[in-house]
Amino acid sequence: MTVQPIRLFGDPVLRTPAEPVVDFDAELRKLVADLTDTMREQNGAGLAAPQLGVGLRVFTFDVDDVVGHLVNPVLHFPDEEEQDGQEGCLSIPGLYFDTKRRLNVVAKGFTEYGDPLQIVGTGLMARCVQHETDHLDGVLFLDRLDPEARKEAMKAIRQADWYDEAAPPVVKVSPHDVPPSRRQSLASRFGLGSDRSANPFGLGR
Ligand SMILES: [Zn+2]
Repeated sequence: MTVQPIRLFGDPVLRTPAEPVVDFDAELRKLVADLTDTMREQNGAGLAAPQLGVGLRVFTFDVDDVVGHLVNPVLHFPDEEEQDGQEGCLSIPGLYFDTKRRLNVVAKGFTEYGDPLQIVGTGLMARCVQHETDHLDGVLFLDRLDPEARKEAMKAIRQADWYDEAAPPVVKVSPHDVPPSRRQSLASRFGLGSDRSANPFGLGR
């Protein structure tokens, strides 16, 4: 289990829809452990695999002392109720904006061992589940803001000391001999910019 660097706004992996998990193997369990450790170290309410540069549909959460994870989540909304409240993102550090979300959610998916799991969430848990599932679709909470707030958020991001417009992540092609079909599937599974051969989770930049 290891704390891993978090990909920041501007990294294309955050805009790439993640692939469903097919293999519930040791590699997946390492990913869940890394997500959990990194989330807790950063005091985050949740963390999605693309934020560690991994293009798989997995997220972890830590809400009201309930720590867990969900693989291949599918969301259902039992009613029309909404909530409005401050939301932030570990990939957009230091910025918080009021974001509208559904108040109640039922998230169905799987554990890291492939067992069915259902999370019934309200309030903050529901917000977290929606935020993290958005990450798996390449969607950020900024996209949920009204146009004026989004403009304000983008301005704040451009002024943030962590934002480096001039240094986009490098997309590397593995120099090793990988059959083209396999290379393609790995590239789609692990997202852009990952040197799969050197690092199975494509971490670092
Ligand atoms: Zn986030």
